[in-house]
Amino acid sequence: MLENERRQLEGQFFHRLVHQHWLGLPLDKLSRMANTPTLNQWWENYLSYDFKLKDFVTFPELNLTSQIGKHKLIAKYDLVAIGHDKVLIFDWKTFQKRPRDEWLAVRYQTRVYRSLLIQSGGCLKNNEPINPEQVEMIYWLANFPNQPIRFPYSTTQFVRDWQHLELMITRIDEQDEFPLTADEKKCNYCLYRSFCDRGISAAIIEDEYEPLFEMSELTLDQIPEIEF
Ligand code: SF4
Repeated sequence: MLENERRQLEGQFFHRLVHQHWLGLPLDKLSRMANTPTLNQWWENYLSYDFKLKDFVTFPELNLTSQIGKHKLIAKYDLVAIGHDKVLIFDWKTFQKRPRDEWLAVRYQTRVYRSLLIQSGGCLKNNEPINPEQVEMIYWLANFPNQPIRFPYSTTQFVRDWQHLELMITRIDEQDEFPLTADEKKCNYCLYRSFCDRGISAAIIEDEYEPLFEMSELTLDQIPEIEF
């Protein structure tokens, strides 16, 4: 097995373990499954970290969707935690290097996850609207457990993000042709590279690149119609 495939599998397995932990499966059984040195280290880091969610209602592996223009925007969240006056989005990351905060801040994941939660997350709070100022997205890094990266939100950011997404979707709709990127480095990490004849195997992920969504785990059939 290639090194990058092993890392991807361990990352997926770690997500599954954490998901099952939030669902309440017995800790001793889950701990026995963290049976490689890397998985064991991530699992120990995860168990020793206090996420301070005692008074929160938690939704692990939550799928949300919203209509945007003629399309559906979908996202799969690792964990959403609803508190009295806070709504937290957690995303587990298994990066080998700690990414720069600025790089994560402008990522589509950071912008889509927070804005989509405002659009569609009211169903998690008895159909009460979620105020952007209540929302915070937290990337918890399995290799750097005491250095989570936190992104609060605001109404101004939400309006900007949603308008940007609408604009991008309109632009895509207006395109007749989709030329391949000249920056072929991007193709190394792209899920669609075999369609573009830009290779069939994934590159070794040495830096901060990673797919936005794990599409192999996410299909439209899995997404409930939750709109707000
Ligand atoms: S492989 Fe991906 S990044 Fe490269 S040209 Fe095709 S769609 Fe664009």
